[in-house]
Amino acid sequence: MPITFVKSGRFLEEREKLEAYNSRLFRSAVDFAEASLWLIAGDQVGQALVMLDNAIEVALKGELERIHRILITDKKALEKYETLKSLLRDAFLNHPTGRALEIPEFDIEKTIYFEEAFDRVAELYPGLKSTWRKQLISAKGENQDSLHTFRNSIIHYGGKPELEGRYAERIVDTAFPFLKELFDRVTGGSVSLPFLLKEWIYREVEVAQSVLRDLRTESILPKSYALKTLQHHMIWTHTQWPSPRDDLDVIDRGAETEWERYIERQKVKLFETWDEDLTVEIHCPVCDSNPGDGSFIEAQVLLENESLDRNILLPVGFNCFVCDLNISPKERFLAQHFVGQLPEDVVTSYLKDIGQL
Ligand SMILES: [Zn+2]
Repeated sequence: MPITFVKSGRFLEEREKLEAYNSRLFRSAVDFAEASLWLIAGDQVGQALVMLDNAIEVALKGELERIHRILITDKKALEKYETLKSLLRDAFLNHPTGRALEIPEFDIEKTIYFEEAFDRVAELYPGLKSTWRKQLISAKGENQDSLHTFRNSIIHYGGKPELEGRYAERIVDTAFPFLKELFDRVTGGSVSLPFLLKEWIYREVEVAQSVLRDLRTESILPKSYALKTLQHHMIWTHTQWPSPRDDLDVIDRGAETEWERYIERQKVKLFETWDEDLTVEIHCPVCDSNPGDGSFIEAQVLLENESLDRNILLPVGFNCFVCDLNISPKERFLAQHFVGQLPEDVVTSYLKDIGQL
């Protein structure tokens, strides 16, 4: 039986608000976006990109369908009178003899393409085009790293492991923020994508955005490790795995002393590579440092040595013994943005301890 660690129930409320639009395409867009998070959790970055491309396509079509279904129907289908009749079924019902005709319900078999759908929606919301078109769609011969180009390449030829950093970039810098903006615009700000996808999980999308921005600033190519805390938080929320309890080093949940002994063993291992004097302890943002037996085991944050002279505590590593999230100093930008601002009391007491205050 899967356990979901729910930190707020807003996603249920948000789903209800979305129901008011009575659009199976909007519902489907959220389902696709949620499915993409599972693919990210399962390390299927390319497939997650494909899923988000689907999410965007159906959300765009959902918006056009709110005006009329005819706007998303494939041009060839529109040449058939039978299709037109189905599309205009309601109008026929208002005609004195037309209402006697037997007209089947409209069934969408072929719809317009992604690009066409985007351009039609962008006409409704000026501003969408200049910000997003290039990131979403490639014109001939340019932007070979647009979301939809990557999607087509993955669909037809399979994903390339060496491009995973680029896929990650399109996922967090393009797909999620575009969907977020689209939902904002379409619902006048009343339905929020982060709430739909659970805001504590969406937090990690923003962490990944910051990591990729830092890498760009340092002229380093995008790296898929930016998605690591998103993966971890997603898995932890829905399954509470990985955790020490799934390790070979199994411990008895009920016995506090077992936990303590376990943590001591883990600390010895950790401090073989980390300088213990450069660590502080905080609540883990993923598992709240709560192993579920009433005890409380704080996570370790490794600090940068050089910036301590200036009284700056800069996280460069993170390790939680409860949910097993480990961010190595090689992934320092991730540690920095995932941990965020350290609590003031932690900073003050650390600086006092090392005699800087
Ligand atoms: Zn944790």
